[in-house]
Amino acid sequence: MHQPETNGNGTFNGAASGATKLAPANVATRCEKCRKMLFTRDLEKTQKICPECGYHFRLTAEERVESLVDDYGAFQWMDDDLRSADPLHFSSRNVAYAEKLDEARAKTGISESVIAGMGAIGTHRVSLAVMDFRFIGGSMGTVAGERLTRAIERGAEGRCPVIIFSASGGARMQESLFSLFQMAKTSAALTRLRTVQQPFISVLTDPTTGGVTASYAMLGDVIIAEPGALIGFAGPIVIEQSIHQKLPPDTDTSEFALAHGMIDMIVDRRSMKVTLTHLLKLYAGKR
Ligand SMILES: [Zn+2]
Repeated sequence: MHQPETNGNGTFNGAASGATKLAPANVATRCEKCRKMLFTRDLEKTQKICPECGYHFRLTAEERVESLVDDYGAFQWMDDDLRSADPLHFSSRNVAYAEKLDEARAKTGISESVIAGMGAIGTHRVSLAVMDFRFIGGSMGTVAGERLTRAIERGAEGRCPVIIFSASGGARMQESLFSLFQMAKTSAALTRLRTVQQPFISVLTDPTTGGVTASYAMLGDVIIAEPGALIGFAGPIVIEQSIHQKLPPDTDTSEFALAHGMIDMIVDRRSMKVTLTHLLKLYAGKR
């Protein structure tokens, strides 16, 4: 799994003389794909897309919401008070799950791997939920599943489209079976959304895997992916070890999923809002 990587040692070799100059951390970021060093401030201007090769760095959930809604200040955050009850009192390597949650909250500034709310995209009111991979690998436990389910239910009750941006390693192992319940719960909520004829647009971003791929994320009326995203159930290494065969190099990518009919389209992040607006307009006209 590749994380956006900053120049950890705080150096950036950008001097014309070839001398290494010291620069504060986070000034430069290395592109995961073309390996070029990029000024972080330039990357922020391009919605974190590499200007050299088009690689899409991961966005935080808040950056994602901000890039989509018409008025970020007017976005109504929902269910932010939900917290995991830690039903199994889980701990691993002497680190309690509760501690891990606290750490993730401190690191990301958000309360869970999914944030959700109501806002407008291209003047269309939508129920929006966004995952953040930084929060325990974007894993879906009881709180994430409940927030997603409520986001879908808000769409059904308020008669508006639901859009979910996924970025997840799958179900959260620290909540075991309770995490797996979320797969059925989110999928069932989507069935209710369908009965009121409201669309669900599922957007898969890097990475979307495991129990998330195996449930609601692949049930979109329209399924969109960002370019080059890792998309699949199991990762390529696990598949190769299971079937004892070498996989093609692009297996588990957006492009592979599109070529094999798993998704409807690949959309560059810079065109995402325009594309969503267009789809929302089409669905609004149909009703
Ligand atoms: Zn690049």
